[in-house]
Amino acid sequence: MDLATPLSKVIGIGPTFVKRLEYLNILTIEDLIHHYPFRYDDFSNVSNALDAKLGEKVTLQGEIWSIKNIYTRSRKVLTQAVFNDGTSPIMLTWFNSSWLTKQIQTGDRLQISGKLNKYKNKLSIMAPAWEKLDAVILGSGATPESKKDSGQARMTKETIHTGRLVPVYPETFGVTSRWLRTKISQIIPGVLKEIKEPLPETIQDKMLPLDKALAQIHLPENWQELEKARERLAFDELFFIQLATQKVREDWKKKPTIKKFKVQSARFKVFVKTLPFKLTNAQDKVLKEIISDLEKTQPMNRLVQGEVGSGKTVVATVAAYLTHLNGYKTLFMAPTEILAFQHFETIKKLLEPYKIEVGIYTGSRKKAAESATIIIGTHALLSKKLLTKRVGLVIIDEQQRFGVEQRSLLRSKAKVPHFLTMTATPIPRTVALTLYGDLDLSIISELPKGRPKISTHLVPEKKRADSYKFIENHVKSGEQVYIITPLIEQSETLVSAKAAKVEFERLQKKVFPDLKLGLLHGKLKSKEKSTVMTDFRDRKIDILVSTSVVEVGMDIPNATIMVIEGAERFGLAQLHQLRGRIGRGTKTSFCLLYTSDSSNPQEKSRLKHLETTFDGLKLAELDLKIRGSGEIFGTKQAGRFELKLASFSDLTLIEKTKEAARKILEIDPELDKYPLLQAQLQNLENIKPD
Ligand code: ADP
Ligand code: MG
Repeated sequence: MDLATPLSKVIGIGPTFVKRLEYLNILTIEDLIHHYPFRYDDFSNVSNALDAKLGEKVTLQGEIWSIKNIYTRSRKVLTQAVFNDGTSPIMLTWFNSSWLTKQIQTGDRLQISGKLNKYKNKLSIMAPAWEKLDAVILGSGATPESKKDSGQARMTKETIHTGRLVPVYPETFGVTSRWLRTKISQIIPGVLKEIKEPLPETIQDKMLPLDKALAQIHLPENWQELEKARERLAFDELFFIQLATQKVREDWKKKPTIKKFKVQSARFKVFVKTLPFKLTNAQDKVLKEIISDLEKTQPMNRLVQGEVGSGKTVVATVAAYLTHLNGYKTLFMAPTEILAFQHFETIKKLLEPYKIEVGIYTGSRKKAAESATIIIGTHALLSKKLLTKRVGLVIIDEQQRFGVEQRSLLRSKAKVPHFLTMTATPIPRTVALTLYGDLDLSIISELPKGRPKISTHLVPEKKRADSYKFIENHVKSGEQVYIITPLIEQSETLVSAKAAKVEFERLQKKVFPDLKLGLLHGKLKSKEKSTVMTDFRDRKIDILVSTSVVEVGMDIPNATIMVIEGAERFGLAQLHQLRGRIGRGTKTSFCLLYTSDSSNPQEKSRLKHLETTFDGLKLAELDLKIRGSGEIFGTKQAGRFELKLASFSDLTLIEKTKEAARKILEIDPELDKYPLLQAQLQNLENIKPD
């Protein structure tokens, strides 16, 4: 067995479990041993019923005196057993586990762990963890040294569910902790020797070696060893991100750019002056950063982060204009066809006075004029055909949708055009510096003056009828509304699409029979999506019921109300981005947040931040604090660089790993001496963001 062995080839894992594990993205042995527990039960206190204190977790060894299933009147099953550890009988009770009577029989010798209590004056333990003492259980995976270290001879048969620090895994898709413990503890001893230490000695230093860390994270000897294991594995997570991004950055720097641009200040000034508005200070500052990049012999590789509405398009247009003045073309890539058209209209207007030809190139319109110097389009744009030597600047809007692939395509060229990516996703600085360490970062930190605040309210369920009335009134006075349906799974799926459809039908039939409703979700064909969005823009639709796929940059000033259902499922920054689709005109806009019944008071107080905070970056920082980094990108982006143990708020570790990566690349920029590191980076590259 090696690490890449698919689980279907592992004896003892049947097709049902192979399927279930697939849902968890666990396909190989390697995936399985990188599926970490999320907490541990401390059952290490092995004692007896007389000495143990009530209310404490204890592990007892003894014999089953009797065991039976009892059916309650409400048709629930209780399994009850009398267990005796030689000092006292103890009542054991399990719920809904009738199969236990097949596994545990009178006379069996068991080790059990749980909280000791008194019930009707008898010692009892509810739902104890258990295992048979005479079963052969393979070792915990602790290495021989550690056994020696512990001084005394340990049991040759090691327990895994009781009598120790017991790992608890997230229980999803019918895969229980008990099952995972059993399998992982069987597999680990056999594959530990396959795990090669990827870190050079100087970096591994005093940290646990990888094999030992993996063994300890699953079956730790004690809290100290567990901590060391966590430390080591967390280090690796951030280290490889740092190494990957720094390597890309170094490689990029080594490429010459197409041309060092000259900025013709006079014409640039005229351009800025004749814009229909005055640039904000933040736009100004970011433009200066871009210009200073364009004047270098190295290609620009910059990420502009700015809230929805902060005016990124015009900044990009200025860059394209400068590129044009230097005799080069610009390719401007938008995530969807609708957005491409929207940009096309905007940019054409901005550049009209200068007689600059703007073209469009999308899946359905592939005839960008040869003479166009700025071509706006979708994915189709970055084909070899258009990416000619005459292209001096590539702009990617809403880069979180793509960018990784495009960047590697660009990198494959001998001479590299300047590269500008833009995102409205607020990314906390520590995260940006890590995940996007290969990019220079510019932040448009303010919105143009005079934008109306989006009046945001967490609405109690009992006010629902009132808000429907409120919506109807607004629609009747000519405004439009988004209703966002809950995020059912982490990514857009059939289930979410169905739920949106059900809600759409309910609203259309029961709530707004006189209004025109539209439906948008990720399972529609892109043509269908376009039609719905265009109809909404052209006011043929009053209320758009949609999953959270509503296009990131859609600019529909007439939409003034957004309802978000199941708001507790979204991160704050994500909600903020969603509400950024309204409040684009001059009228006051309203964002109404609903939570589902099951949401708790903490969730509500978290959501309350949206009523008072309108700074996306602050909200993203809050997300990081409250819910961890998964929230920041949605899971899709997190996928490439998923953090399981490390955290983007751990500045010390971020610095430490950054320094380590820097050191390695300084000694060996191509990593020729470190094939294992090279292989790891290759793996990261191969994981596509979508
Ligand atoms: P985003 O950053 O979300 O892409 P856009 O570039 O679409 O934002 O800009 C949103 C709106 O703000 C557009 O209508 C644009 O014309 C306008 N805008 C951009 N910059 C300014 C500014 N400095 N002052 C006033 N309005 C501006
Ligand atoms: Mg935009």
